[in-house]
Parts: sequence; C-alpha cells; structure tokens
Amino acid sequence: MSDGNRASARCWADIDLAALERNVRLIRASLPAHISYVAVVKADAYGHGLPQIAGRLVHAGVDLFAVANLAEAMALRETGTDWPVLLLSPLLPGEDRRAAERGFAATVSSAGEADRLNAAGQAAGQPVTVHLKIDTGMGRLGVWHEEVTALWERIGRLPHLRLAGVFTHFASPDEDAAFTTEQRQRFLAALARCPGLDPAALLIHADNSAGLETIEGAGPFNAVRVGLLQFGILPRAGSLLASVRTEPVLSFHARVGLVKRLPAGASVSYGRTHTLRRDSTVAILTAGYGDGVPRAVSNRAQVLVRGQRCPVLGRVTMDQTVVDVTDVPGVEVNDEAVLVGRQGGGAISLAEFSQWAGTIPWETLCAITKRVPRFYHGGLGF
Ligand SMILES: *Cc1c(COP(=O)(O)O)cnc(C)c1O
Repeated sequence: MSDGNRASARCWADIDLAALERNVRLIRASLPAHISYVAVVKADAYGHGLPQIAGRLVHAGVDLFAVANLAEAMALRETGTDWPVLLLSPLLPGEDRRAAERGFAATVSSAGEADRLNAAGQAAGQPVTVHLKIDTGMGRLGVWHEEVTALWERIGRLPHLRLAGVFTHFASPDEDAAFTTEQRQRFLAALARCPGLDPAALLIHADNSAGLETIEGAGPFNAVRVGLLQFGILPRAGSLLASVRTEPVLSFHARVGLVKRLPAGASVSYGRTHTLRRDSTVAILTAGYGDGVPRAVSNRAQVLVRGQRCPVLGRVTMDQTVVDVTDVPGVEVNDEAVLVGRQGGGAISLAEFSQWAGTIPWETLCAITKRVPRFYHGGLGF
C-alpha cells in the first residue's frame, strides 16, 4: 500500500487509516443522527492521498464526497467508488458537458451557470444535479443572499437541472462566532425567500469543520461538509471540537543524513542567518522545502530527534534542514526525525508546526510535496 520502502525513505508521511475511520465515527456520533456527512477530499484529500482516504471514508460510511474540481472528481471515480460527488468550485464553460455526462453534482451561484448546466444536461441526455449556493458573507461563490429568489425560480424552470441541495459557506467560523451566527440567520432568511422550498427534500448545509462548533440544534441543516477535522486536526487552538477526541491521521518524518561538529562562531546555511554561540553538534536532515518543510520555519521550528525537541538552525533549504543536536546524546546517521507527530515522549502538532510557518494547517498539508511518499497503516487487510 505504498510506493517504496519506509525503512529506506528519506522523508515521508505516515497515514493512519484506522484513525481516520475512528475520527469519522466520532464526528458522526457528535452530531444529530439525521445529519448527512459530506466528506471533503479536495487537494488530494488534504495531501493525505485521495485513493486510500476515499476508500476508507466509504468504509466509514460517509454519504457524499465533495471535491474542488472536475479533475479531482474524475480521480475519485478512478478509485472505483460510485458515491455521489459534489463539485465545490465553479465549472468552466468547457467542463459542463463532461460533468453532466459523468453525473457529478455542480455548485450553482449564477443564472449563467444554471443556463450552461441546463444545456449540458440536455446534451448529455440526463439532468444535471445541482446545489444552489448562497453567499451569506463569504464574498466568494454563491448568489448574494438578498438576491436568491430569481435564481431559485430560474433553476425551478430549467428542465434539465435537478436541484439536490442549498448551501452556504462561513467566512470566519474559527474566529468570529457572532458573524457565523449572522451568516446562519441570513441563510435562513434566504431559504424563506425561495417559494416552495422543502428543506426535507434537499440537502441543506453550511458547516465546515469549524462551523460544527456552533451547529447546536441544527434547525433545517441536515448535512455538514467536513474536511480538516476528519484528519484529526482542530480548526483552531482551544476549539470546542477538542471534546470530539479526534486523532491526527498524518505524521511527517525525515532522517539524519549527516552529523557533524561545528565551532562557536560558525554560521549555518544560506544567508548566514544563524551563528553558533557554542561549539555545537548539528544534524543535517534529509528534508527541505522541496518536500514541504516551509522556508518560513527557518530558525523557528523544532524537530524531534531521539524524542527531544531540536531547534532548526538557519534557513531551510530545498533538500536539507539543519538542527541543533548538541544536547541530544548519541544522534547517528539514519536516525528518524519527526517534523510533525510523536516520538518518545515528545509531540509536535500540525498546528504548532503551522504556527512556526506563519500559516494554517490546511496550507501545511497541501504543501507536502509529491516527493514525499505516503505510507498507509491501519488498513483493512483486504
Ligand atoms: C474546503 C471546504 C470545506 C471543508 O472545510 P474544512 O474547514 O476543512 O472542514 C467545506 N466547504 C467548502 C465550500 C470548502 O471549500
């Protein structure tokens, strides 16, 4: 279930599929039973690897998949699943027909999209499933919430569209609960502007991972779109979702490629941004920004070697990163180094690593490159 051999990998990610399945079951158990689970697997399942993640999510019993675009939806089909798929990004005009023929559900934000998809449905000889998206304050996709009625009525008149859902997306669910509440209210008001809308006959969804903090009684909401949380990562420090007890699915590893002594006063790596204050032992790790260790963590991150936190010295380079192991006895070539994950008694979370990089966990995951083999554990054994 992996490319190459973990024992000889220079830099790799371990992916725990059993943890993924436990996470999905815990998230579901934390929600009212009637809520459908839309598994968001865009960007190669957040860098975890689409085929393996999708396969396990089917086993865990998700209801629907969401991906960004047509290429991702086709990749999902190639994994063998015939589960329904929702495309979250706008389709370009050249893509409508292919989406219609393959039976993917499309997001509709405008009359132009509705008309194009209707024509594509006619040409394909089968209606196109659509989810109407309402902009309640994200300022990105969706029809502006005060203007939904015309689009709602237009979709109702177009014979080659089949409306399956209505949804919105939160702008600051992890930062601004008051605005999230405002967006929920705008969404409910917008639903009331759609004559004849029967929430029980549609998927009504708003919540991404962080939204789940405030979903409460659910109201007309009967589906959630979960990305980050199913991979065991909280959308913010101190999240209420910590009580759901998900576990990280991915850990990120490299090896010690060289150990050497350098004298006090020597500078380390490009640009000479770090000068050693003492005679030091440094370990050169076999991972750099070519693998997805952001250059922004230069002089900031720590890495676990022999279970101890070792500071990154100087700039991260394309293929190597230097860490200070002066205080860690016995470090040897080929020792495992943990950038994100656990080792011995130590642990570095993706959130902490992302903070060193000045970014968010979503981006950190997407930044782990193709050069990094993913090794899958906790498989089902068939
Ligand atoms: C990516 C995405 C999600 C999932 O968000 P998470 O915060 O990762 O749970 C949900 N809805 C839409 C529209 C998205 O683009």
